Amino acid sequence: MKLENKTALITGGARGIGLGFAEAFVREGARVVIADIDIERATKAAAGIGPQASAKKLDVTDLAVIESVAAQVDKEFGGIDILVNNAAIFDMAPITDITEASYDKVFDINLKGPLFVMKAVANLMIKRGRGGKIINMASQAGRRGEALVLLYCASKAAIISATQSAALALVKHGINVNAIAPGVVDGEHWDVVDAHFARWEGLKPGEKKAAVAKSVPIGRFANPEDIAGLAVFLASSDSDYILAQTYNVDGGNWMS
Ligand code: NAD
Repeated sequence: MKLENKTALITGGARGIGLGFAEAFVREGARVVIADIDIERATKAAAGIGPQASAKKLDVTDLAVIESVAAQVDKEFGGIDILVNNAAIFDMAPITDITEASYDKVFDINLKGPLFVMKAVANLMIKRGRGGKIINMASQAGRRGEALVLLYCASKAAIISATQSAALALVKHGINVNAIAPGVVDGEHWDVVDAHFARWEGLKPGEKKAAVAKSVPIGRFANPEDIAGLAVFLASSDSDYILAQTYNVDGGNWMS
């Protein structure tokens, strides 16, 4: 097992990709804390995984709560070894139609939140002095702008950059910071994306999703399990010499 005796904190782990990571990390021997704004769903998800998983309520836009949840997990489990900065939301509009409210929400949850979760957890890791692994969730949307998706794309491009800066600052403490850029992953996130595209492009529900699935070189959407293998690798000692990278797991969509 690759993550035996490790403690992982996964933001937004109540469903989707984060939940897939929680299940995979527990299979590899880790204890996992799912920290999500939806505490009911997080609690159910943790119960479904078993005694190695637990849940905490966390809104990543609340800096005081970030500090207190990180400190609680650090105390209860004797340190945090792995952080997955996974919570994010999607919104969509072209530059002519973006609103301040959408900007504030997308950047608060997708950038400010992950930065301050990284800060809180990195400081706790430094105090413990035994290094750690930080994985930020970027996206193929961070590699290239899209006409209708300015704010989400920009927030994910910022995550790729922040991963590089944080990695360079934390390497001297034995903390590896890397990111994962998934392509399209089936689940509730994409139900939201599909509904937005239906509105903006005048499509029927499900039409965008079907077209996008066909356009992926591998021919289908990913499932969370398709992404989890890389997360386990980046969380384990197998990746000790790797930092500041953003890895694509996207069925061949993006080549770099
Ligand atoms: P999802 O929408 O299914 O899950 C997001 C989770 O974050 C939910 O459990 C939600 O309750 C939680 N959350 C939302 N706001 C929060 C807040 N303020 N504080 C704490 N938790 C909050 O998303 P997903 O598809 O599982 O995606 C996970 C990550 O991967 C995200 O960063 C997303 O941007 C990224 N990603 C997803 C895809 C995809 O196609 N699904 C593709 C590329 C990147």
